[in-house]
Amino acid sequence: MATATIPDEKLAHPDLIDPAQETSCCIVGGGPGGMMLALLLARRGVRVTLLEAHKDFNRDFRGDTVHPAILEILDQIGLADALHQLPHTKIYGPTFQTADGSFSPIDFRRLKTRFPYIMLIPQTKFLDFLAREGKKYPNFRLRMVANVGELIEEHGQVCGVRYQSTDGWHAVRALLTVGADGRFSKVRQLAGFEPIKTSPPMDILWFELPHLPGDEHSERVMGGFGKGRLLAVFDRGDHWQIGYVFPKGQYQRLRAGGIDAFRKSITEVEPRFTKHVESLGEWNQCSLLSVEANRCPVWYKPGLLLIGDAAHVMSPVGGVGINYAVQDAVVATNVLTRPLHQGKVRVEDLQKVQRQREFPIRVVQAMQSAMQTRMIAGALQAPGAFKVPWQMRVFFKIPLLRDIPARLMAFGVKRVRLQPEA
Ligand SMILES: Cc1cc2nc3c(=O)[nH]c(=O)nc-3n(C[C@H](O)[C@H](O)[C@H](O)COP(=O)(O)OP(=O)(O)OC[C@H]3O[C@@H](n4cnc5c(N)ncnc54)[C@H](O)[C@@H]3O)c2cc1C
Repeated sequence: MATATIPDEKLAHPDLIDPAQETSCCIVGGGPGGMMLALLLARRGVRVTLLEAHKDFNRDFRGDTVHPAILEILDQIGLADALHQLPHTKIYGPTFQTADGSFSPIDFRRLKTRFPYIMLIPQTKFLDFLAREGKKYPNFRLRMVANVGELIEEHGQVCGVRYQSTDGWHAVRALLTVGADGRFSKVRQLAGFEPIKTSPPMDILWFELPHLPGDEHSERVMGGFGKGRLLAVFDRGDHWQIGYVFPKGQYQRLRAGGIDAFRKSITEVEPRFTKHVESLGEWNQCSLLSVEANRCPVWYKPGLLLIGDAAHVMSPVGGVGINYAVQDAVVATNVLTRPLHQGKVRVEDLQKVQRQREFPIRVVQAMQSAMQTRMIAGALQAPGAFKVPWQMRVFFKIPLLRDIPARLMAFGVKRVRLQPEA
């Protein structure tokens, strides 16, 4: 296995390891999964050290959705109301423009929850909020500009990590190391885990358009199909967030066509944006998401667990990546708090986390895969030509069935709750 090991003489160096760098749980990556795990464990009195490579949480757009499942978990720990004090918008479901008129298959308002909507809040604000809460606990340590580059392994057991900061290399020793470092996970690579990849047939360009006087606000995601693209339009209060979905591998061709052709291709699907697209002058206003989906067959080894995108990258269909990373964190908290307090985390404990999470992830990935094929088929038609199959229209009219997709999107296959500490 390609695991880097720190020589003993380096570990003994006082500049590299100080007692403050010993912890129960070392979490690599301050995204939604890692941050939530750190906060939940800290609340339960576990010593955690969270290492984040960047100097702040403000970086490229990576999705701003906070699903009902996350809001319920935050409610369980008394933070939902405080989060709602921050500027946000809400969406109650998608509406697609089709040849037969608009089609609104999902309505979260019918769900039995205090939070029947997806909250849209900049991810940086969400992470800042969780970090601020975490810092209220003396056993919560957050190290920014801490880029993990090596695992510490002894006798077949991962015992921590080495990270590089502005002042050189440091080491953190831990009973458990959690790789929550996202889709390009260094921890996963160092541990020698190889994810099984699927190839979604699409890529996405994300960009913003201004809200102009006269624009009506919308509490639904608007979807329009046509000529090789699908536009997903989110109302962010002071601007529109646009996801421009197109068949995989065509980005260079899109760029070669020039920004004018790109703007035209947007207004062909959404004519109301004719004025708005004038604000799009450079390609660097767009952020490319090369869509992929994968899943590690095994998420753990002695002393190490992967969660979130590091263990399974979700396709963006339904925007569930953040939700699933947070749910992993909740399950890990439920299962691992006690072993961490007892000072012994067995492989069986780590296995239990994967077992509880793997099935829901497989089910949703399979559904996403089927939906992607349909979406791309719809996008390849002429604007306004896409028709919703009659079977789907019937499905969404049957009261017992119509809310299943909304429930799956909001909560996943199984509602994940924070369990009382055993
Ligand atoms: C363009 C784009 C749009 C998206 N839109 C949505 C959406 O609308 N809704 C949704 O639910 N999901 C969306 N996603 C997916 C979503 O961002 C992820 O599923 C989610 O963030 C996963 O959370 P995570 O905590 O597992 O990992 P990440 O959020 O990826 O966090 C990983 C963290 O680890 C840090 N890190 C990486 N390497 C190291 C290292 N060596 N040492 C220390 N730290 C490290 C990173 O800086 C990062 O902060 C989108 C993704 C992209 C790229």
